[in-house]
Amino acid sequence: MYDTIIIGAGVAGTCLARQITDEMDVLVLEKDSQPGVKDSGIVSNTFLDYFPKHLVKDSIKEMNLVSPSGKRIRIFSNEPFALIIKRKEFSTYLKKGLNVRYQTVTDITYENDYVSVSTDSNTYTAKILVGADGASSIVRNKAGLKPPLIYFGMMSQAESCKGIIEVFLNKYYSPDFFAWKIPQNGEHGLITSVRPKSYMEYFEKKEDLQRNKFYSYPIASGIQHMVSERTVLIGDAASQTKPLTGGGIIFSMKASEIAAEVINDAINLRRYNEMFLKSYQDQWLSQWGAEIRRQLFLRKAYRKMTNHYLELLFKDFGPEIEIHDYDRLSKNLKSVPKLKVIKHMLRMALGMVQ
Ligand SMILES: Cc1cc2nc3c(=O)[nH]c(=O)nc-3n(C[C@H](O)[C@H](O)[C@H](O)COP(=O)(O)OP(=O)(O)OC[C@H]3O[C@@H](n4cnc5c(N)ncnc54)[C@H](O)[C@@H]3O)c2cc1C
Repeated sequence: MYDTIIIGAGVAGTCLARQITDEMDVLVLEKDSQPGVKDSGIVSNTFLDYFPKHLVKDSIKEMNLVSPSGKRIRIFSNEPFALIIKRKEFSTYLKKGLNVRYQTVTDITYENDYVSVSTDSNTYTAKILVGADGASSIVRNKAGLKPPLIYFGMMSQAESCKGIIEVFLNKYYSPDFFAWKIPQNGEHGLITSVRPKSYMEYFEKKEDLQRNKFYSYPIASGIQHMVSERTVLIGDAASQTKPLTGGGIIFSMKASEIAAEVINDAINLRRYNEMFLKSYQDQWLSQWGAEIRRQLFLRKAYRKMTNHYLELLFKDFGPEIEIHDYDRLSKNLKSVPKLKVIKHMLRMALGMVQ
């Protein structure tokens, strides 16, 4: 019997596995032996507190927000506020030295003294099961935990080129998120809760973008329950993404630190019940809950906004905003006149965003 089985060798599963492998018997199960690039790889500088510089492709000191009519707000900082990482190299780096078996998990059953995990070719047992299996998590489902809100992320990649990242806030490109161009990755894409294909086609047509390889992935968002008996969810399976950007790499890294400590204690003390494991969820929410709630409020307000209201925001908040913290995005309005922030926050709270 393994101490811990982790399902999913994405960022969340591998970050966690790296921290507990020396302490206990860990098995990582992953269905995809050759995963493609499934995100843009934009992360805050915090990345360098955990990983070496050679995994970074580029640093970001500025990007443009683009309004429906083409007005621009320059988001900037004197020092780089974000990084573009070498996504494939990062995945390989994370998996190095781990016990990863490439099998698809097909079933999970909970017995009195262990969890049983069946794959397409074997059955394994463990004291603790970790669901790091992404937005459509089978672990979350089998553990009886409520599914989160699911969005669709779409991207197309071609040759990379020079230029500045542009983020399009336009209700015709995405009603509840945004679309983007990242020249350094030769990439464009968008996130939306509905009709991803038709929004993508319209965005590409209007911005004259050539589609090359094409990817579509679910993104989970919100605050959800992330533990149950003998079970811990992490990463997209636990909706650990920033509600304003959909970014989940840094959140996965941060959550894996907390989860590693709690799982270590659980194994050492033989405490596998939900009450004990809940300390992971409590610590996560005490570190990030307030920021996630603020971002959820802003996204909810954004969802109700019309393109006309977006133009008003661009007029009031432009031409540039200095950014201080790419993870705690809701705190970045310090350089904008306070009265304007209060005016728009009030209008958002009252739903007057038409
Ligand atoms: C279009 C797009 C752009 C994004 N851009 C960014 C960005 O710029 N910056 C950022 O921080 N975040 C970004 N994200 C989010 C980011 O990719 C994720 O939040 C992050 O990678 C955490 O992923 P994860 O490990 O939780 O899940 P995943 O990466 O989805 O990993 C889950 C793993 O579990 C495996 N799995 C699933 N089911 C099974 C099963 N039954 N058996 C075995 N294995 C299974 C899957 O194959 C997969 O490898 C983006 C997401 C999308 C969709």
